[in-house]
Amino acid sequence: MVDLVSQYEKIKPAIDDAISNVIQNAHFINGPEVTGFKEDLELYLQVKHVIPCANGTDALQIAMMALDLKPGDEVITPSFTYIATTEVIALLGLKPVFVEVNKDTFCIDENEIEQAITPKTKAIVPVHLYGQAANMNAIMEIAKRHNLFVVEDNAQAIGSNYHLTDGTVVKTGTIGHIGCTSFFPSKNLGCYGDGGAIFTNNDELALKIKMIANHGQSQKYYHDIVGCNSRLDSVQAAVLRIKLRQLENYIDARRDVAAYYDAFFGPMKGIQIPFRSDDSKHVFHQYTLILDGPNRDGLNEYLASRDVPSMIYYPIPAHRQKMFASFGAGDLHLPVTDSLTQRVISLPIHTEMQKEQLEYITKIVEEFIGK
Ligand SMILES: *Cc1c(COP(=O)(O)O)cnc(C)c1O
Repeated sequence: MVDLVSQYEKIKPAIDDAISNVIQNAHFINGPEVTGFKEDLELYLQVKHVIPCANGTDALQIAMMALDLKPGDEVITPSFTYIATTEVIALLGLKPVFVEVNKDTFCIDENEIEQAITPKTKAIVPVHLYGQAANMNAIMEIAKRHNLFVVEDNAQAIGSNYHLTDGTVVKTGTIGHIGCTSFFPSKNLGCYGDGGAIFTNNDELALKIKMIANHGQSQKYYHDIVGCNSRLDSVQAAVLRIKLRQLENYIDARRDVAAYYDAFFGPMKGIQIPFRSDDSKHVFHQYTLILDGPNRDGLNEYLASRDVPSMIYYPIPAHRQKMFASFGAGDLHLPVTDSLTQRVISLPIHTEMQKEQLEYITKIVEEFIGK
């Protein structure tokens, strides 16, 4: 699905230098590379505070911890997402309230949010799935009306631009009260191990998030609140500084692949190509088709038999996971989510794709589906 080796070959001298510098300086934890990356990312995202941490799941957990919620408080989230989004809510003793997604954008359906709000609702966690932003203008408006926090799960959409109603263009992850991302190697901005970060424009929240990620510590050995230990290490930060400079090129490369696929699959019967909303720039973490007729699992197997990788993101939605059975989630009626889990298939998309690979992949899909 990705080709991180070819990608590395193109930036090898810079990466090797950066890693070797970290080793020679031996500032492995909280070193200058971590501060440097934090500042680079603040500049890129045009956000006041970036707090690096150990991974995207921690980012979501720490963000949620910073909101001072009480056990049993409710957090609205889509069911159609990676498990991390919803898992941290339950881990903190909060109640995930699963809401339907929009059938075109794959993101939380803003029209279904208000009816899920109760007096216990404290936050909304939209996920910018596959690299396309949720309808943040509508979500922020709802959140404001009901006095709710918004935590964006931006793990799949870093670098995406979003058009706010006031005409300004901002990066996803900087619109809600807090944004979270992951630097898992295959993400659009990935490191060579685990990594994550939290973004906010709110000084007070930033301070709290920083403390939580560092054992609740305000100054050394003074622990004011219960926190955790979640750090981005210097080697990963050094790698990320190099790769951040390439991020816009990487996004362009992904969008070129998506454009090739769109042109090929667009005219084919029974296939829906990814919808692109007007208010944001799709950064194509995944290229995901919806099959309206052709057998999805059959295609998945056929591709595998011809050495074409493909993935189902996600075969089982959160509300059908045993993990959430005690919340009565299994009884929820989320027909769009359930239907998408049966019909979606993601094809290879990355920064190093060759024309011949695209030709081969599309040919194999066409063989299975017919014109
Ligand atoms: C990858 C991902 C995460 C978790 O990130 P990790 O770094 O693997 O912990 C969370 N949410 C979404 C939507 C993701 O894609």
